[in-house]
Amino acid sequence: TNVMEAENVKLNYGKYEALHGITLAFPDRKLTALIGPSGCGKSTFLRCLNRMNDDIDNIKIRGRITLEGKNIYDHHLDLVALRKRVGMVFQQPTPFPFSVYDNVAYGLRVAGVRDKDLIDQRVEESLKQAAIWEETKDNLQRNAMAFSGGQQQRICIARALAIRPEVVLLDEPTSALDPISSAEIEETLTGLKQKYTFIMVTHNLQQASRVADQVAFLMDGNLIEVGTTEEMFMAP
Ligand code: ADP
Ligand code: ADP
Repeated sequence: TNVMEAENVKLNYGKYEALHGITLAFPDRKLTALIGPSGCGKSTFLRCLNRMNDDIDNIKIRGRITLEGKNIYDHHLDLVALRKRVGMVFQQPTPFPFSVYDNVAYGLRVAGVRDKDLIDQRVEESLKQAAIWEETKDNLQRNAMAFSGGQQQRICIARALAIRPEVVLLDEPTSALDPISSAEIEETLTGLKQKYTFIMVTHNLQQASRVADQVAFLMDGNLIEVGTTEEMFMAP
């Protein structure tokens, strides 16, 4: 089954049409990589999937995007509810300037969770899933910004996972990192595929071939080709 589906998604920045009608389904507990040249619309499309674009001036989105069959642009679905179900990780590690614990607990608190035991438990679980528990467990009160770039990015992944989202969006999550941190994050994502549906923008084809199950190739705002990783990377 598909957790998310995009149907004929078109997007304008003012008069400029950046997406010309993208139809793409995201299968449950698989990693879909969005690839294509710089400027082809990968980030723009990714941001549509959790309504990250909404507040940009002059933006107009048409078509339909559903999460478990429900239109995410329906006015009955508020953004807080949507963000509880669709997490996001950015290119630059962007921990908030407070403790590791408070970073990971952030989404739960926004969601109204007050039970300290539950928060403790989720913080530990998420840091473990993001493979950063060993490095943070004795320093949970330390400022997240004091960690290395790769560690910060894994704290951000833990922050996204803590709310147990159905879908996690990743916008070039390793391109600001050194090769070793990057490989560690690829390994972490690969290990988490049984639990989450991932949608990841990457300009790195080798990375897509290593971690993705499905690959979607965009060019000039169009979806040019989509297939399993084997289909997309197999020599003709
Ligand atoms: P990619 O992620 O594939 O590099 P983007 O989605 O960032 O591509 O950009 C797609 C196109 O939309 C580009 O031509 C870019 O310049 C344009 N664009 C992106 N963001 C905005 C914005 N906020 N306002 C106007 N144009 C934008
Ligand atoms: P890009 O994809 O353009 O290279 P980033 O992915 O780092 O750059 O950030 C893209 C945009 O997302 C920026 O405009 C930034 O303001 C916004 N952003 C970054 N981090 C967060 C965050 N934690 N919460 C909300 N918005 C963020």
